[in-house]
Amino acid sequence: MERSIIVTGASRGIGRSIALKAAEKGYQVCVNYKGAADKAEAVVREIEAAGGTAIAVQADMAIEADILRMFETVDTKLAPLAALVNNAGIVDKAAPVADMSLARLNRMFSTNITGPFLCAREAVKRLSTARGGPGGGIVNISSVAARLGSPNEYVDYAASKAAIDAMTIGLSKEVANVGIRVNAVRPGVIYTEIHASGGEPDRVERVKSMVPMQRGGEVEEIADAALWLLSEEASYVTGALLDVSGGR
Ligand code: NDP
Repeated sequence: MERSIIVTGASRGIGRSIALKAAEKGYQVCVNYKGAADKAEAVVREIEAAGGTAIAVQADMAIEADILRMFETVDTKLAPLAALVNNAGIVDKAAPVADMSLARLNRMFSTNITGPFLCAREAVKRLSTARGGPGGGIVNISSVAARLGSPNEYVDYAASKAAIDAMTIGLSKEVANVGIRVNAVRPGVIYTEIHASGGEPDRVERVKSMVPMQRGGEVEEIADAALWLLSEEASYVTGALLDVSGGR
């Protein structure tokens, strides 16, 4: 049966890899992005070239109206929704808490917490068997920062991911009997461009000695975990926080 998936922040990095692997698994894919239309369209073309179906949808996860429009677009243009991956997330420049502005905190929490909550709400409305939906899966991309705290770098980011972990646990219990599984993947340090937005493009090289496996992770290693959590192979897994972090 045809089914679709929304992957937020799928124009590059971990989200892009999840979108490509979801298409391989047969999902029709909503490739969400905020600003990088060209990169999101390139992901769509890559999926289509491999015989899949995808659309790129611009929507800022910090804006409710954008999120509603994204879900409505999927309702009309793709097969029935079966899965959501709350992947879009931001870091800010490394700074101690004492130097964090209200504007920074509002931007961090609206993008990394409120957006995923609103997306989860919209997904549950469509997936819940109690509301006539087919059931499905939600995967939240958290971070090991949720338990490490990221002192002197970005405690705001770490706190946003801890909120995502709590949402994963609570929502998983709320919807366990209406056909929806909710899980989180907690990546360690992964080679993506997110570190450049924190002002340190080579951050993985600096911190990898703290990783028991002595290396950074690849986006595919995170995507495989997310797709496994959505699959039937994980049919009894819900409320799990799966660390994919090389042992860190
Ligand atoms: P990248 O910075 O490489 O990519 C971020 C993606 O999110 C882009 O597609 C970007 O779209 C999109 N995005 C950013 N802000 C918004 C927004 N407001 N609305 C919609 N889309 C948005 O990040 P990663 O791939 O590294 O990170 C993906 C997730 O994994 C994040 O949640 C991150 O916190 C988490 N993570 C990453 C780790 C790492 O080491 N890389 C470690 C632990 C967790 P556009 O380009 O169009 O703006």
